[in-house]
Amino acid sequence: MCCYKDFIKEKFDSYKMFDDNDVYFLVKSTILDDGLSEYVDDISINTSKKNHGSYISNIKRLVINPKTFYFLSFNLLPQVSNYPSKKSFATFYNLNCLNIIFHESCHVEQMRKYREKSAGVGSSLQSIIDEGLDFGSRLPNHVNFRERLFYHFFYDKFLFERDAAISSLFRLLDLANELSIISRGECLYFNRMLLETCIKNYKMDSLNSGLISASEYYYQVRGKSDEFDRISFSENYDNITKISWGMPISTDFYLQLCDMRNEDLSRVNVKKRILEIKG
Ligand SMILES: [Zn+2]
Repeated sequence: MCCYKDFIKEKFDSYKMFDDNDVYFLVKSTILDDGLSEYVDDISINTSKKNHGSYISNIKRLVINPKTFYFLSFNLLPQVSNYPSKKSFATFYNLNCLNIIFHESCHVEQMRKYREKSAGVGSSLQSIIDEGLDFGSRLPNHVNFRERLFYHFFYDKFLFERDAAISSLFRLLDLANELSIISRGECLYFNRMLLETCIKNYKMDSLNSGLISASEYYYQVRGKSDEFDRISFSENYDNITKISWGMPISTDFYLQLCDMRNEDLSRVNVKKRILEIKG
C-alpha cells in the first residue's frame, strides 16, 4: 500500500477533515506515485475561490482550492446523509477534495500522454488527446477570445475535461471501496454523478436515428467535423477508455448505461459493470 493510502484511511477513520497541509501532502504524493513529478514544479493550495483547481502546464503549476468544497459539501450533504453530522460532513468534504486532486492529476497525466505520444502516433486515442491537449496546453493565456468564450460556456464538451471528470470518479470510487471509507449515501451520490457524466453529450441523431458520440459532438461544435471523419476508431479500446474520451459506442452500450442509473447505485460497481458491457 502506498503511503498516502494509510494517511487517507487514518483521516477518514477518525473523521478528520483534510486541512491545507493534508491536501498539499496528498497532491504531492499522488504526483510522485503516478510518476508525474517532472510535469509539476509548483503545488499551490487555496489561491482562488473561482475554481476547484487548475493545472497550468507551461509553468507546471498545479492548484487545488479545497475551500471551494466547503460550502458545496455543506449544501449537498443532505443528498448523501439522512442524518447530516460533523462526521458525515468531514468524510464527504474529504471525498470531494480527493476527487479534485485526482481530476487535476489526470490533467497532468494527459499532458504526459500528449508530450510522450504514449497512446501511439496516428492512433484514434492519440488524435483525440492531441486535439484536446493542444488547447489545454495553451490555457489560460494563450487561447484567443473566441476559444476562451467557448471553453467557458462549453466546458463540459471538451474531451480532456470529460476524461478528467470520469477518470477521477473511477479512481475515487476504486480507492474509497478499497479502503472502505465510503458510505452507501456517498457511493450513490458519486456513482450517479459518474453515470450522468458518462452519458452526457451522447445524442440521438433524429435524421438517421443513430447515436452521435460525445467526441463527434465536440468536433461538430468546434467546426472540425472533417478532422473527426479522419479518425478511424478501428482500435479495440476497452469500454472505460471509450466512454472517458467520448468515443463512438453502440446504441445498446449507451442504453445499458442509461438503464444502470435505475439500479441501486449505493451498491453497484459501475466500473466493473461498464467493462463487462459488450461494446
Ligand atoms: Zn479540469
